[in-house]
Amino acid sequence: MAPAPPLLVVISGPSGVGKDAAIAELKKLALPWHFAVTATTRPPRPGEQDGVDYRFLDADTFHKMRERDQFLECAEVYGRWYGVPRSQVREAFQAGKDVILKIDVQGAETVRQLAPEALFIFIVPASFAELAHRLGRRDTETPEEADMRLQVAREELSQVSRYDYRVVNREDCLQQAVEEIEAIIVAEKCRVVPRVVQLFY
Ligand code: 5GP
Repeated sequence: MAPAPPLLVVISGPSGVGKDAAIAELKKLALPWHFAVTATTRPPRPGEQDGVDYRFLDADTFHKMRERDQFLECAEVYGRWYGVPRSQVREAFQAGKDVILKIDVQGAETVRQLAPEALFIFIVPASFAELAHRLGRRDTETPEEADMRLQVAREELSQVSRYDYRVVNREDCLQQAVEEIEAIIVAEKCRVVPRVVQLFY
């Protein structure tokens, strides 16, 4: 039997829901998945590494790439630009690897238009109050930025019906969320009729 074709997996969820923590745990599983390194014009946070967490670009370089159509999708999120370099998806697909994209709901909508056969997973908090609490506790944003992210989160949470799967990341239950994401991807690889993603890079 031919191996299942590579999957394009989109993981979204509101800011503060724990997407980065979940992805860090998924990376440890050492499965043949490529975690796309997306580009951003936002400055690195303490501990973030260029080329690992993001490609940190100045606005000029980012927009030159945009003009050259080097992004599969790009969007302005919280006043900064983010984009998925086409090369990130192309090279992984050519190597037969599933690609995981951690992008916001606008980016997910663009990918849905380009590749309806992609797999869409949305991470939600157990409650809005829990999300507000987590965002308030982070020291990576100013109180104004945290407020803006919370307002956007309300809107984003209303988009969950556009996704194939919803995973709840409960406070102190990260491992369960990670296991659920792994289970979803593994099950999708066992489909009798696989998702075949056709992309024009
Ligand atoms: P953060 O600044 O907290 O790392 O990310 C802010 C938001 O941007 C998150 O929702 C993250 O998923 C999203 N994001 C990261 N990379 C991309 C991308 O390439 N495209 C889009 N549309 N969103 C992205």
